[in-house]
Amino acid sequence: MKYRKANENKTGRAAKLKGEVKKLAVSRDKFGRKIEYLRISITDRCNLRCRYCMPPEGVEYKPHESILRYEEIIRIVRVGIELGIKRVRITGGEPLVRQGIVGFIKELAGLEGLEDISMTTNATLLAGKAAGLKRAGLRRVNISLDSLRRDRYREITGRDSLDQALAGIKSALRVGLSPVKLNVVVMRGINDDEIPDLVDLTLDYPLHVRFIEYMPLGRTVQSQLNSYISLEEIKRRIGGRMELIPSKVKGSGPAEYFKVPAARGTIGFITPVSHSFCTRCNRLRLTADGRLRPCLADNIEVDLHDGEGRVEDSEDIRRKFKEAILLKPGSHNFFQEDIFSERNMFQIGG
Ligand code: SAM
Ligand code: SF4
Repeated sequence: MKYRKANENKTGRAAKLKGEVKKLAVSRDKFGRKIEYLRISITDRCNLRCRYCMPPEGVEYKPHESILRYEEIIRIVRVGIELGIKRVRITGGEPLVRQGIVGFIKELAGLEGLEDISMTTNATLLAGKAAGLKRAGLRRVNISLDSLRRDRYREITGRDSLDQALAGIKSALRVGLSPVKLNVVVMRGINDDEIPDLVDLTLDYPLHVRFIEYMPLGRTVQSQLNSYISLEEIKRRIGGRMELIPSKVKGSGPAEYFKVPAARGTIGFITPVSHSFCTRCNRLRLTADGRLRPCLADNIEVDLHDGEGRVEDSEDIRRKFKEAILLKPGSHNFFQEDIFSERNMFQIGG
């Protein structure tokens, strides 16, 4: 009797979830948020070793055969578009280390219904590829740059690649990728003294410099936690030095933008930790190994493979996409220990 009741409950719950999946208004989650943005990690590999992104003891990459093939990603994006995805961002790991990226962007750009393709990159390989990527259909780029000083760049990223990154930024501007946004993870005692120099870049160049709070993800947590600094403090420091007026920049992200009067670029603040923007979250993430991740800071994932390790057919991808949307939590809590991410950022796709 007890057994039957437990089973009935289980069947009831499954039927309810099935019903919810069926009822789901296209691309709305349980909290009414419209999900129209997909971040796609195409590789977990990277040519840098940023201290906030990778664990100090070194990295272990997924075997090549478990990384989604381009044609599988295209199949997944097609289903996403049917469910309301309008914009995609290509990320990693470092997306430009993967062969065939220009052809892949071209294929994405040919998908009807996709309104915007952007990329997040460290730009060290961008100089030789920017023109081809732009021609293929890439619209804009976010580039990670945490220091303008060569020694410090090497200290943070583990590689002596500042010159290559700067060349990549120049190429992005030259070929007309627009906007070009620079992502700066601000770390106390490591690069917070460079904020004035980074702000000054916006006076002369049409660059959008975004300061980002360090997020405690994965095994980087313990080693970097002392580096966290709230952007409220940074905003106060910049405000004490120069006038800032509110501004806007194209994109769907959570940054709050300002500019120095007469500057060509803007300054953005992204505060995932001190001021969560979960109520406006419009995204899902696809990991390089084929998992849909509803929330950056939560370990819930929906595997798009079947029991035999093949990516599902379109009907099942559709069902799993809806499931992932329904599983999106209302908000995150980065500092709640039991949800410390099992993956580091390079394994998720920031
Ligand atoms: N390799 C590319 C790059 O660095 O731009 C794309 C992938 S990287 C994981 C995406 C973004 O995540 C970068 O802007 C990086 O600064 C940011 N990121 C990585 N780990 C982070 C952390 N713990 N806290 C805040 N931002 C982080
Ligand atoms: Fe590589 Fe980007 Fe992570 Fe730096 S932040 S290690 S460039 S994936």
